[in-house]
Formats: sequence, C-alpha cells, structure tokens
Amino acid sequence: MDALFFLLLVIDLSNSGRLAQLALSGSNQAEVTQNIARGLELLGPAISLDTIVEVLLVGVGTLSGVQRLEVLCMFAVLSVLVNYVVFMTFYPACLSLIFDLSRSGVDMSVVREKAKGSLLLKSLTEEEQKANPVLQRVKLIMTTGLMAVHIYSRVAFSGSDYDAVDKTLTPTLSLNVSNNRTESGEIADIIIKWLTMSADHIVISIVLIALVVKFICFDNRDPLPDQLRQSGPVAIAAKASQTTPIDEEHVEQERDTEISPVARPLLFTIEDQSSVNASTQTDLLPLRHRLVGPTRPPRPIQECLDILNSTEEGSGPASLSDEEILSIVHAGGTHCPLHRIESVLNDPERGVRIRRMIISGRAKMPVGRLDVLPYEHFDYRKVLNACCENVLGYVPIPVGYAGPLLLDGETYYVPMATTEGALVASTNRGCKALSVRGVRSVVEDVGMTRAPCVRFPSVARAAEAKSWIENDENYRVVKTEFDSTSRFGRLKDCHIAMDGPQLYIRFVAITGDAMGMNMVSKGAEMALRRIQLQFPDMQIISLSGNFCCDKKPAAINWIKGRGKRVVTECTISAATLRSVLRTDAKTLVECNKLKNMGGSAMAGSIGGNNAHAANMVTAVFLATGQDPAQNVTSSNCSTAMECWAENSEDLYMTCTMPSLEVGTVGGGTGLPGQSACLEMLGVRGAHPTRPGDNAKKLAQIVCATVMAGELSLMAALVNSDLVKSHMRHNRSSIAVSSANNPLNVTVSSCSTIS
Ligand code: ADP
Repeated sequence: MDALFFLLLVIDLSNSGRLAQLALSGSNQAEVTQNIARGLELLGPAISLDTIVEVLLVGVGTLSGVQRLEVLCMFAVLSVLVNYVVFMTFYPACLSLIFDLSRSGVDMSVVREKAKGSLLLKSLTEEEQKANPVLQRVKLIMTTGLMAVHIYSRVAFSGSDYDAVDKTLTPTLSLNVSNNRTESGEIADIIIKWLTMSADHIVISIVLIALVVKFICFDNRDPLPDQLRQSGPVAIAAKASQTTPIDEEHVEQERDTEISPVARPLLFTIEDQSSVNASTQTDLLPLRHRLVGPTRPPRPIQECLDILNSTEEGSGPASLSDEEILSIVHAGGTHCPLHRIESVLNDPERGVRIRRMIISGRAKMPVGRLDVLPYEHFDYRKVLNACCENVLGYVPIPVGYAGPLLLDGETYYVPMATTEGALVASTNRGCKALSVRGVRSVVEDVGMTRAPCVRFPSVARAAEAKSWIENDENYRVVKTEFDSTSRFGRLKDCHIAMDGPQLYIRFVAITGDAMGMNMVSKGAEMALRRIQLQFPDMQIISLSGNFCCDKKPAAINWIKGRGKRVVTECTISAATLRSVLRTDAKTLVECNKLKNMGGSAMAGSIGGNNAHAANMVTAVFLATGQDPAQNVTSSNCSTAMECWAENSEDLYMTCTMPSLEVGTVGGGTGLPGQSACLEMLGVRGAHPTRPGDNAKKLAQIVCATVMAGELSLMAALVNSDLVKSHMRHNRSSIAVSSANNPLNVTVSSCSTIS
C-alpha cells in the first residue's frame, strides 16, 4: 500500500509532458528531433540533480535498520532510477519515432490535431494539471491521509498492543525496569520503548513530510532554466504585448475596435501580471512559437541593434534570435516597428510568425488558437505593399468549379470561392442547361471612373470651368495630361455634374487589363493639376467626390455603366428545361416577371432586377483575386426571360450587367491561388497582343456564370425544391452546429434564396 503511494509521489510525469510539448512545437521531423534534443539539453541537468537528491534522500531509509522501511525505500530508489533512465533514453527515442511515423505524408496541423487525443497529449494535459492547484491539493490530501494512517496506527499500537508487546520484551530490560523504578525513569523508559517500537512509522512520516514540502515549495518551479523563463520569447512577447508603443498607424487602425488604443496596453499591466502565475503567462502564446532560434540568453539591446543594422557578413536580422527581435520590437522606436517587421527582417514568413506571437498575446488568445489560422507556405512578397498590411496569415476559402460552361463557342470551368453550400452545385446545374445550345455575349469597355469634387468661389466661376473642360480643344489638353500617367490608362470621357459652386468631374478611362482604380486615380490627379493651371482659384475638395461611384450603391453606375458592360443571351429548349431544371418556359417567365421585375420595383431597387447575381459575382471575384468590395456595383444585373418567339415552348433569357469592375492584372490577381484560377479561364495577366481583352473576357465569363446561377435558382424557386436542396448541400452536421438554434439554421441554409 505504502509502495503505491511512494510510486505516485516519486514518479513525475511532468517532464515527459514538457518534452512532448517541445516535440509537438516542431513543424517538421527535423525540427521535432532538434526540439527533443534541445529539451533534453534543458531538462537533463535539472532532472539529473533531482534524481540524485531523491536517491540520496530516499536511500537513507534503506539504512534505517527497520526491515519494512528498508524494502519500501529500496523500491522507491529503484523507481526513481528507472524513471530517470527511461526518460533520458527510451522516451525521447520513442517520441521521435512516433512523430516520424505519424507525420509521413500528413499535414502538420492534422498531426497536431490527432496528437491532441493521443497519450502524448494526455501526458501533456497531466503536466497542465500539475500546475493546477486542485491536483496539488489532491496530492497533499493523499500524503496527509497516509501520515494520518501512520499516526493512528502508532497511537492504537501504544494504547493496546504496547502492553502486550511490553510483556514480551527482553528479560534484561524487564529486570532493569522493575529494579530501578522511579517516576522519571519510568517516563524515559516508556519513551525509549515507544521510540523503538515506532521507528519505522517515524522515519516514514519524516520522508512523507519531506515529500509534502517538495510538492508545496518546489514543484511549481519551471524546470527550464531561469534565464529562458525570464527572457525567453514568451516572456518577451508578453512584455512586448504589454508595452510596445503603438505607432500612429496602429492608433488609426485600432480606433474602430472595441478597446481603445490607450486601454489596450493597460490590459496587461504589471499588477495584472502579478496575479497571473508564471505558467499562465507562458500559456499566452502557442507552444509552437516557443523556443524558436538559439536558446542562449538574449544579448543586450544595444548589441542586438548593432547586429540588426550591420551589413557585415554574419550580422543582420538573420543572426538574431526571435527573442532578440522581440526585445527590439518591444524597445519601440524606428528600428523594427511591428507593422514593418517583414521588411526589417527581410524574411516575410519569419516576420509574420513573430507578429502572430505578439498579437496573440495582446489579444489574449487561448493557447494555440491562432495556430489554426494558416501562415506558412505563402509568398508574402506578393502581398507586401500590394494586398494587405499587418499580415497574420491567410484565411482559406474552399474553391469549387461550375462547368463546363459553353460561352461564345468556348468551354470554361469557372472557379468559385464560397462557403455557401449549394451555390456551386446550383450554378453547375445552370451551366448544364445553358451549355446545350451555348451562351452568346457582347462586351463593351465602358471605362473605369474617378470623380473628384472641386469647388470654386462662385457658381459663375464653376460654370465657366465646366464649359472650359467640355470644350473639345481643352478636353484634348486635359486628356494628354491624364494619359501621360500610364501606358494603358486612356481618358475616354469627362462627365461633369454641378452642385452649387462645386463640380464633380467624372473622368472615365479605359485601363487595359487592369480593373483600373489606381490608374484612373493617378490620371485624374494629373488632369486636375492642368485644370488648376487654368483656374487657380479652384479648390480640390477630394480626389474622390462619390460621383465615381466606387463600392457604394448608386444609380449612375447602373445608368451610365462602369468598368465593363456585358450582355449575355441564351435559348434553352423545352426538353432541357424539363430534363435538367424540371420546369417549363412559361412558369419561369411568369416568375421572373413577378419576382425580378415587379418585386424589385416594389422594393425600389436600382440594378437589382435579378435573383442572386451577387452570389456568383462574389464567388468568382474571390477566386480570381478581384476586389471583393466591388461586388456592390458589379452585381448590378437585369435578368430577363421570355418565351422564345421561334418556339414558345423554349425559353429566351438575357442577363445585362452594365458595371462589372474586373481586371486580370494588379491587386489580388497576382497572388498564386488567384492567378491559378485566372489561368483556368485562360485570362491570367495581361493580354499578349490586345491589352484589355483578358479583362473583357473575364467580365463575359462572370456574366455567363451569373446567368447560370440565375436560371438554376429561378427553376428551384418555381419547383419549390430550393429548401430541399439546401437541406442536402448546406445543412451538414457541421453547419448545423446547434440543434437548439433552428432559426439560425434556417436563415443560413436558405441564404441563396435571394
Ligand atoms: P488597378 O489600376 O487595377 O488598381 P494597378 O494600376 O495597380 O491596377 O496595376 C496595373 C499595373 O499593371 C500597371 O502598372 C500597369 O502598367 C501594368 N500592366 C501591365 N500590363 C497591363 C495591361 N495589359 N493592362 C493594364 N495594366 C497593365
């Protein structure tokens, strides 16, 4: 019985857990092996010392002369030694082997997920429990209980058995006692006898008290060296997260968040820190971000800065550890501001990794939560200064395809990025119906627009400027200035609206294969400078005066167009309507009239005479790297259906989209995944001979895809099988995470009913 207690108290699984944690933090097999070696290097000396102390302490019991205690202590010493040998030899080897076997051919995140349920992680959990005061208390209670049993047995023994045993004591002792009986001698005699009889209990109690003291006073310490605990990446990241000065740009960005930039650093005040124990602080950061880079103590900040700024060989950011980089970020100043960390390190992925450490600390993310946001294997050089700032990683969106789609004699497989179940399947069904006879389309490059707001001292002066710009000769002067800013941007029109002394000059320009917002903005700025030469009293209020109109619903784009204007048409035979869509032309025409025309008119909609054009537009935009916010204007669409004149059983359908803002160069189109999707459509990058043709083709494909989605949804609506299909495609066990929330389920699963 005692042996079992000894075993539980002496054997310590926490170090095995720690080693497993370190191994888990590696992203590949080489890193795992390296981490295990590093873990042994760090934990080894402490464990060796612990083992020696424990062997010596418990070993004293083997010399006690009390037979039962000697056996017990021998057992404990052996347990300690076996534990030590296994930990230093078999355990690391097995750990490495298990990881090697479980990693081959599998994504690391998957392995990590799997490992969560494994024995390895159980031991890790045990380690976490150890820091838990509840477990401490259980151990304490166990030990106290054991002591109580010993004390009780001793008292019971002295009260009853002692008398019996006394009678059997050696005759010499009995004789002495009877011959020299005095009062004090009697007491001393009893004590000596009592001590003799209870020696094993006393020694056991002392050993147990020593173990209790060990658990209470020493078990909370971190076996990792102090220097690592206090100045390791974790501590520094937490520190950086508390006090890193927030530069102006960050203040701008954080203004909209719930917590003010002033309050944010206060979330981790020194007072808070003292109330959070060391292990909780450590847990602020995902395990995998710990101990990356050399494990030596960080060098003084000035030395780190010198190394950072040095151009000598062997210097520079690559020779600094993550901890040292964190110290530099923490120090603030211009050496390594958090928002520029990728460029300062000249290693975008490392920069992103360190930023994640800091931000997960600041955001008080639970352990490992940010790990599920991917960041590795991404070409950040294509993102920096182009697509995104303050990068933490990327959000994967599933990409499906709809097709084959027969458009103007060519077949396309259209990539669609979406998380809305049933959307791709529905569009695919539409493609099937449309592709029997094929879709025809026309496209016009309306031009991208930018409309600055300018103000004049008087209405008369504003009118004078308006007619000056509208004069052919002056327009040519302005156009020359505009066109000088780009190889592809060409001013096409200048549409001016007047409001009091303000003019809204809507510059319209073709922009080649680029969507063109940047291009037309640059041109407009230059054109304004020329106009200002003529009208020095003209005040430029804003380069964008909302008459453009970008990313906001506006009638001007619906009426005058923006980007590309596309119209697609198709006839679908009665047989196809029946076999693919299970409906007929008359029913569809009727529904289209009452829903897309009548219903939208009742709603006062502008550009919304369609069923759900925005669904297809956004899915293709996301897949092909378009600006997703431009789905506002780009989704303007009029879906028309008629019974075909030549055969009234067939359906004649058109989709008119006057403001598709698309490009195949610039923005997100150059990112690897997005450009692969453009490649699928044969429109990646600039058209080799006719600039603008790729963008126009993309606009035609988007419009034809919209048509497929429109047709399929309309058919689903008239058949009333929409909800059924959503239940099948959208209401998976994952989507319906809460059976207690039927309202949410219904709303999300039917969101394609637009
Ligand atoms: P946007 O104006 O859509 O925001 P950008 O102006 O940022 O796009 O990117 C377009 C860039 O691509 C310009 O620098 C332009 O010179 C270049 N480019 C190369 N080939 C073409 C092309 N065929 N059409 C348009 N731009 C092109």
